[in-house]
Amino acid sequence: MAFKTDIEIARAARKRPIQEIGETLGIASEHLLPYGHDKAKVSQAFIDSLADRPDGKLILVTAINPTPAGEGKTTTTVGLGDGLNAIGRKACICIREASLGPNFGMKGGAAGGGYAQVVPMEEMNLHFTGDFHAITSAHNLLAAMIDNHVYWGNEQDIDVRRVTWRRVLDMNDRALRQITASLGGVANGFPREAGFDITVASEVMAILCLARDLADLQERLGAMIAAYRRDKTPVFARDLKADGAMTVLLKDAMQPNLVQTLENNPAFVHGGPFANIAHGCNSVIATRTALKLADYVVTEAGFGADLGAEKFMNIKCRKAGLAPDCVVVVATVRAMKMNGGVAKADLGAENVAAVEAGCANLGRHIENVKGFGVPVVVGINHFAGDTEAEIAAVRAYVAAQGAEAILCRHWAEGSKGMTEMAARVAEIADAGTSAFRTLYPDEMGLMEKIETVAKRIYRAGSVTADARVRAQLKDWEAQGYGALPVCMAKTQYSFSTDPGARGAPEGFDLPVREVRLSAGAGFVVAICGEIMTMPGLPRVPSAESIRLNAQGQIEGLF
Ligand code: ADP
Ligand code: MG
Repeated sequence: MAFKTDIEIARAARKRPIQEIGETLGIASEHLLPYGHDKAKVSQAFIDSLADRPDGKLILVTAINPTPAGEGKTTTTVGLGDGLNAIGRKACICIREASLGPNFGMKGGAAGGGYAQVVPMEEMNLHFTGDFHAITSAHNLLAAMIDNHVYWGNEQDIDVRRVTWRRVLDMNDRALRQITASLGGVANGFPREAGFDITVASEVMAILCLARDLADLQERLGAMIAAYRRDKTPVFARDLKADGAMTVLLKDAMQPNLVQTLENNPAFVHGGPFANIAHGCNSVIATRTALKLADYVVTEAGFGADLGAEKFMNIKCRKAGLAPDCVVVVATVRAMKMNGGVAKADLGAENVAAVEAGCANLGRHIENVKGFGVPVVVGINHFAGDTEAEIAAVRAYVAAQGAEAILCRHWAEGSKGMTEMAARVAEIADAGTSAFRTLYPDEMGLMEKIETVAKRIYRAGSVTADARVRAQLKDWEAQGYGALPVCMAKTQYSFSTDPGARGAPEGFDLPVREVRLSAGAGFVVAICGEIMTMPGLPRVPSAESIRLNAQGQIEGLF
C-alpha cells in the first residue's frame, strides 16, 4: 500500500473556520485577530483577562537522541492532543513555528506528519502569520542602528572590532556566515567584519519565546548586548535606544497563533528558537495561555531529552514558573536499531538484538527525566515495518527500567491510534504525582551549573574549559549574571560531543570551547563542539523540486 504524503493528507483536511476552533477554547471571535480563514492571533486583552484562572495540566513530549531514522516528536505531540480530545478531554497543543530556510534544504516540516498534523501546513511551513519576518526586521533594526551610531560619531565609543550583534536572515545561506560590511568608501561607514545567522538563532527569537508580555519583551530587548566599548564594557540595545522600535515591530508577533489539527482540535503554533544556542521550545505566552484555556496542554521540546527536555525544565519552566505533570519520551524501533549499530540502509530487516542494544539510549533518558521528579511514559511511535518481536523488546526493556511503554499509531490512524496513550497520560497528570524540581538552584556558580548538566544528564566524567572561559564566567558572575541558567549547545546526536557515539556513552570529557552571554534572553550559552548558527543547503536542495501545480497548489514541500 502506498502511503499518502504529509502534504496530500493536509490538503484533504476538512478545516473548520478558525472562529469555531477559538470557540472550543472559549475565545470569543472578537478576541481573535484572523489571518485569513484558518489562522488567528489571540488578543492581548483577552490573554490579560485570563490571569486568575487555574492552570490545566502540562505534558511535555520529548525523545531519545535523534537519528536519521526520524523519531516523530511533533507528530506524537499532535497525535496526543487529538487523542486526549478523542477521549473527551479538553486539550490544546503548543508547538513551534517552522523556520523557512531549512524547508528548501532537506525534506521535513514542522507541522507533524501522517494523520497527526496541524493545518494549514503549507502556510505554517512558509510565511505563516509573518512572525519570523517581524523578528528578522527587529533584529536587523538593531544591527542597522549599531552601524549608524558608529557612522554618526560613535558617542558610545563602540569598538567596531567587538560588535557582537550579527545580522539575520530566514534562509540557509552559508555565503553570508562571514562578511565584510560597510565597504565602498566614506559615505558607507567604517568597514568591519560581520556575518549573518539564521533568524531562529537570533536572541530576539529567544526573548520573544520567554517574555511574559510586551513590557517584559521591551525590558529584555533593552538588556541585550550589542557590542563592547574599547574599555570592554558592554553597550546594551537600550544604550542605542533601539528597544522601543524593536518592540513596535514585534507587537503582533508576540501574540500566539491559533490553528487546528486535522481533527479540528486547537493548536497554538508560536515562536521557534534554535535548540542549540537557545532553548528550543514554543513561546511562554502561548503555553501559559493554553494552560488557562484547556485542561491538558501538550507541548514539545527540540532534539533529544538531554538537550530539549533539560532546557525546557531548567530554562523555560524555571523562568516562566511552569511545572510539567507528565513527560512522554518518544522512541521508535528504527531509532533503537540505529542506536544499536544498524546502518540506515539495513533498517528494513528485523533485528531484535540491535533493538535491545540500542535501548540503553532510551533508558538513560527515562532516568534523566525521572531525575526532574516528573512521571514518564514511553511512546513507541509505530512505523509500518516494525515487527511484533521488536516492539516487544522495547516494551520489555522499558518495563525493566520501572517505566511503561505504549504503542502509538497516530501517524497512520490519527487519534484512534492514540487513545491508550491519551488515557494513561491523563490518568498520570490527574493523579498529581509530579514533584517537579529543576536540576540546579539559581545560586549555583555558572561553571558548576555546566558541570552539573554535563555529569548528571550527559554522564560526562569530566568537563574541560580553558582559563579564558572560566575567567569569563567569573566576570559575568561579578557583573550580576551569576543567577542565570545555562543553555548547553552541543550535538543532538549523542549524550557526548561526538555525534557518532550513540547509545549511552559515559565517562567522556565534555569540552566547553566558548561561552556567550544572552543577557536579554537570560541565559549563558555554553558551546561544546561545533555549532552552526547559519546552515547551508545540501548538494540537491529540496527547493529544486518545490513548485506550484496547474491548480496553484504547492508540490514538493514534504
Ligand atoms: P520531530 O518533531 O521529532 O523532528 P516529526 O514529528 O516532525 O519529527 O516527524 C518527522 C517526519 O517523520 C515527518 O515527515 C513525519 O511524517 C515522519 N513520521 C513521523 N512518525 C512517523 C511514522 N510513525 N511513520 C512514518 N513516518 C513518520
Ligand atoms: Mg519537531
